Amino acid sequence: MIKYCPTCNRSSADFKFIGEFCEVCATKKVREKIPDKILIERCKSCDRIRTPTGYQPADKNSIREAAAQALHSKCDIKIEDFNDHGALVRFTCDIDGNEAVFDKKIVIELKRTMCIDCYRKTSGYYEAVLQLRGPRDPADRMMKKFLNFIETRGAFASRVDELDNGYDIYSSNKEIATNFFQYYDLKPKRSYTLYGTRRGKKVYRNIYLLRL
Ligand SMILES: [Zn+2]
Ligand SMILES: [Zn+2]
Repeated sequence: MIKYCPTCNRSSADFKFIGEFCEVCATKKVREKIPDKILIERCKSCDRIRTPTGYQPADKNSIREAAAQALHSKCDIKIEDFNDHGALVRFTCDIDGNEAVFDKKIVIELKRTMCIDCYRKTSGYYEAVLQLRGPRDPADRMMKKFLNFIETRGAFASRVDELDNGYDIYSSNKEIATNFFQYYDLKPKRSYTLYGTRRGKKVYRNIYLLRL
């Protein structure tokens, strides 16, 4: 039996119906409750966007994560398309036990922030210092090896000082620096400097002196 939507008179011969109403009318209320605009934070230095699981490069997945959090919608969402100004979002919702699908354009307002990694880089953050001492060539090679090791594991050097007898390298992460010595079976002389306190615990910076 052909039904006619009581709101807009569309016919069930031409349109999907959800209960008594056509899909357009049945989803109207849900659609109107969804915000037209969301705010997404983007790091001004590395361009990654903030998602509930951390800063990530902007793509359909990361925007979906950030949008899902900002929209507070009970519907499943999928990003069909996006640019710097907005996204076309496909919503799949449960309406009275029926699956309803519709698209909505959401304006994206980008808030310029700075992620923790970039903040640490620009603020010269470090947890460990590698003091490399020795002739120029082996010191050069060891410095490059160390930088490559920490950078491929998500750390960075916030500073590298070239000295007459080697290098001082400031590493953002002390665990990764420690792993480097284990990995290459190196035995640097270790010392510590008190850096401050964090949540009542003393925080130390590791100093490694490695003679080549
Ligand atoms: Zn209708
Ligand atoms: Zn960043």
